[in-house]
Amino acid sequence: MNLLDRFLTYVKIDTQSDPEVNTCPSTEKQKDLGHLLVKELLELGVSNAYMDKHGYVYGLIPSNSQRPITPIGFIAHMDTSPDAPGAHVNPRIIKNYDGGIIQLNDTLSMDPKQFTALKYVVGDDLVVTDGNTLLGADDKAGVAEIMSMVEIMALNPFEHGDIYIGFTPDEEIGRGADLFDLNFFKAKFAYTADGSLIGGIEYENFNAASARVSFVGKSIHPGSSKHKMINAQHLAFEFHSLLPVFDNPAYTEGYEGFNHLSNTEGSVEFAKLSYIIRNHDMVKFNKQKDDFKRVVAFMNDKYGYEAVSLKITDSYFNMLEVLKHDMSPVELAKQAITNVGLTPHSEAIRGGTDGARLTFMGLPCPNLGTGGFNFHGRFEFASIQQMEQAVDVMIEIIKLISK
Ligand SMILES: [Zn+2]
Repeated sequence: MNLLDRFLTYVKIDTQSDPEVNTCPSTEKQKDLGHLLVKELLELGVSNAYMDKHGYVYGLIPSNSQRPITPIGFIAHMDTSPDAPGAHVNPRIIKNYDGGIIQLNDTLSMDPKQFTALKYVVGDDLVVTDGNTLLGADDKAGVAEIMSMVEIMALNPFEHGDIYIGFTPDEEIGRGADLFDLNFFKAKFAYTADGSLIGGIEYENFNAASARVSFVGKSIHPGSSKHKMINAQHLAFEFHSLLPVFDNPAYTEGYEGFNHLSNTEGSVEFAKLSYIIRNHDMVKFNKQKDDFKRVVAFMNDKYGYEAVSLKITDSYFNMLEVLKHDMSPVELAKQAITNVGLTPHSEAIRGGTDGARLTFMGLPCPNLGTGGFNFHGRFEFASIQQMEQAVDVMIEIIKLISK
């Protein structure tokens, strides 16, 4: 089956994950795609392919070489984002995109002035939505590309080492790495195929923590509270005003970190502020955490009782902290991207990835571009030519590591 047909088949299967459900997979329908992928892997000769009870799909293409070759892997996620409708995806193909406005349906259009990623795909054949759902190129572009890679290896065999395949559920709700089976997946390193513009090799993401700040006030009838009342909500305002003003997502980009106030609750007696703390740089990340601790200490000293308490919980870390000790997975991908005639480019992810979690679980896992764009919404699209190039990059990675 060609790459486009695979992609169109996969996007029509509803695999939306659900953050409100605690089981894994969060939605049983993700297994519909999982079953199909196992069937196709078996047909392509990956005889050990299977899906576990949590909906993870695994396969190993065993080494066909007499020489020891470093085992590597490729990973993509099967679920789609809960942020936009994901059922009844009705993809449409635009041949030879002319660079103009794309009319998705009667009311919705995509203007390259606003959707600037369109400049990367002029002249390509695109897959777009009908404006009613997301497309699911995130990450079925990656799934289809890995499956095409497997097919190419089956039809045109070449010497290679052990190649592991993994398809995960529930990535979009932050749980794709939770139950990933590293006892089966014995790669030295792997790549997630979950990026955007072709040629992309991403290996930096945020260090991330959450902070809950609690405030205890002293409630007294407001008519007789002079010099007695301490309003917990005012304590919360004071706390926030003592944090660095420009460490705010509305003022940051690139490598600039932030503290984001995500929720506020309050009464006179009790108030709570919830923040997320983000920075690519571990030293600056720790300094931001120290800012929180310093303000807490200052306020408790000022009020003379434990008016403020703080709980900081780490969420995930920048995979570069691990990869910097051995950048060979990144260098290998850059060489492969160059060899197929593209220019490698790297951007620091302003979020986290399953690859970051897997990296800290012992499987270094940078992220490759897939040719999909505008993820998580109705304006999502994919370039068929870039998807084909993504397959070329994967094959070249395998050939390079097998030399
Ligand atoms: Zn994704």
